[in-house]
Amino acid sequence: MAGEAQGDCLFCKMAAGRIPADVVRESETTLAFRDINPQAPTHVLVIPKAHYPDAAALAAAAPQVMADVLREAGEVAAAEGVAESGYRIVLNTGAGAGQTVFHAHAHVLGGRGFTWPPG
Ligand code: C5P
Repeated sequence: MAGEAQGDCLFCKMAAGRIPADVVRESETTLAFRDINPQAPTHVLVIPKAHYPDAAALAAAAPQVMADVLREAGEVAAAEGVAESGYRIVLNTGAGAGQTVFHAHAHVLGGRGFTWPPG
């Protein structure tokens, strides 16, 4: 069910502290940690602590938590010193768009230039 921890979900385990994560920020509803395979000098993932399979499901079921994720993404960018130069928030949604972990997460990428359209 939406919001309930899934026993086989990697990010649920990280949110619960059962798998170590390089945590940079935490709020009541969110956790932010460094991506294990960084694609930019700053690459942090912001996840809801509760389980939703993707960002659209999160926004539909718990819009306030989606707002929390986006607020925390901005706070991460500011804390990492990339807010002024510009940064990217990425919400890969569905395997066809590159989503590999089916627990909603926002990538916060910064510290380098970005092209448009994205690859
Ligand atoms: O958007 P997508 O689902 O592909 O993003 C998942 C991200 O989770 C990847 O960038 C991957 O490097 C990251 N990851 C991680 N720690 C793990 C497994 C995956 O940071 N243990």
